[in-house]
Amino acid sequence: MENPQLTVLVGPTAVGKGTVVAQLRRRHPEVVVSVSATTRRPRPGEVDGVHYRFVDDDEFDALVASGGMLEWALVHGAHRYGTPRRPVEEALEAGSPVLLEIDLDGARQVRASRPHSQFVFLAPPSWEALVERLVGRGTEDEEERARRLETARIEMDASGEFDAIVINDDVDEAVAELARLMGLE
Ligand code: 5GP
Repeated sequence: MENPQLTVLVGPTAVGKGTVVAQLRRRHPEVVVSVSATTRRPRPGEVDGVHYRFVDDDEFDALVASGGMLEWALVHGAHRYGTPRRPVEEALEAGSPVLLEIDLDGARQVRASRPHSQFVFLAPPSWEALVERLVGRGTEDEEERARRLETARIEMDASGEFDAIVINDDVDEAVAELARLMGLE
């Protein structure tokens, strides 16, 4: 059975997805936010099982091969990320609203397998604002920034595929809008 309680949030690099999702969680602890598996290394402060499930290539391959991934993608041409299927299905069966924060490729896979989900695009107020934020946070070198901006351009061009676009100009407003779209407020 398709479940409208599943919401998929996509947004380009540095748009503030992390902040929006963290605030949504604080306001609505009933939302189950899927913990993705990834082959990338943890960044300082990231906790295994909380921010991501950090796995090696073999473990990722095994998850895919066993059908354990709802979707997965190679992101920024660098590492694989995927949504473990079981926790999402269990949460939906329990009647909880579920949020996936994934990339465009993954969102398209979820649209194919669960077309009645809700697809939300988080957009920056402008392209310039996005570039400024990416440069300002200073966590990527020049080459990585260029790669992320290339992906961001493709994602922005695909924003018309989504059921709703939320502009992250004011974080509180963006969170409130996402919560409304999810039927939480
Ligand atoms: P980061 O490495 O900065 O944590 O994440 C990079 C990108 O990977 C984010 O834009 C995020 O949307 C995407 N991502 C995170 N988890 C998943 C996932 O489970 N599946 C897919 N397809 N993309 C993901």
